[in-house]
Amino acid sequence: MSNILALIEVTSTGSLVNTAPGLLAAAAKLGTPVAVVTVAPGTGTALAEELGTLGASQVFVAECEQVGAVLGSPQLEALVAATTALTPVAIVVANSADGRDAAARLAVRIHGGLAVDAVDLRLDADRVVVTHSIFGGAYVVESVVEGGIPIVTVRSGAIQGPVAATTPTVTTETVTVDESMSSVIDAVHEVATSSTRPELREATTVVSGGRGLGSKESFELVDRLADALGAAVGASRAAVDAGYVPQSLQVGQTGSTVSPQLYIALGISGAIQHRAGMQTAKTIVAINKDPDAPIFEIADYGIVGDVFTVVPQLIDAIQNRAKQ
Ligand SMILES: Cc1cc2nc3c(=O)[nH]c(=O)nc-3n(C[C@H](O)[C@H](O)[C@H](O)COP(=O)(O)OP(=O)(O)OC[C@H]3O[C@@H](n4cnc5c(N)ncnc54)[C@H](O)[C@@H]3O)c2cc1C
Repeated sequence: MSNILALIEVTSTGSLVNTAPGLLAAAAKLGTPVAVVTVAPGTGTALAEELGTLGASQVFVAECEQVGAVLGSPQLEALVAATTALTPVAIVVANSADGRDAAARLAVRIHGGLAVDAVDLRLDADRVVVTHSIFGGAYVVESVVEGGIPIVTVRSGAIQGPVAATTPTVTTETVTVDESMSSVIDAVHEVATSSTRPELREATTVVSGGRGLGSKESFELVDRLADALGAAVGASRAAVDAGYVPQSLQVGQTGSTVSPQLYIALGISGAIQHRAGMQTAKTIVAINKDPDAPIFEIADYGIVGDVFTVVPQLIDAIQNRAKQ
């Protein structure tokens, strides 16, 4: 089978970003998944083993002295080196800020064709067909790169594993970057976060609240259900505009796009701009007291009722089940 490179992102503390399983699953849909990971010299062994458990048949470890010192360039050089060494038929990266940056720069370097924000991928003979959900989710379209290697950014959560664990072949190469051509990191400030919940765009379950929650204090019901499920919290723009939660939690056209396994919408009407950010979720549950709310048009399960009556019962049921 043909090699498919997957650029695996690593956090500043050296662990895998949780887009890794989805990217390896995306690569496995097209061929042999090869993880490309950039590390400081001598630190790749544990990551390579972990990538094997996620289904990487091969791990291309690019050791770079400048990891953490320059933005993006080590990852770019790693992909260029892996492309030269392994002649892949496609390259997948996360549709994150870093992933999109690497993908665009790589396309220029290797004269590849860029396809962004994929929600699915498949091989049609030897062509890589990329599926996109566009115009606020109103259309699903397919694209094919006709010149160069396809470089595809994959929406977080859209493609799931599992891919069978392997003992991967590990190739280690040294890459260097030209700092005069790179953004050098001057200082790093960790943003303090008090939340232990998963990151919204990467969570497998998202519980979102809308204007129907009525106040910042009442929005706490969304937090409680999210915590019972180990989910991330999201919100509609109306809830953000009303000051219930910060804008970083907004889901939709002008907020985050999420594609979790389960999306629960509480007191959200389901305006097209909200749907644009969540309708590729695998299962959608809506609780709304208006039976004609548009959210029910896309919900897999709907409960017509008051969130303040239904959600506490739901939390009790989840907690009782957890005790059994
Ligand atoms: C350019 C543009 C960009 C936008 N971007 C976004 C975006 O990114 N994300 C986004 O969300 N919106 C966005 N919007 C706004 C969008 O059009 C809607 O106004 C917004 O999504 C509505 O939020 P909502 O559903 O929470 O509020 P509402 O539309 O007011 O709906 C509240 C819902 O709660 C229900 N409800 C009320 N009380 C209860 C209760 N006790 N129990 C159960 N149900 C109850 C009501 O029946 C109603 O359906 C954008 C708009 C524009 C013009």
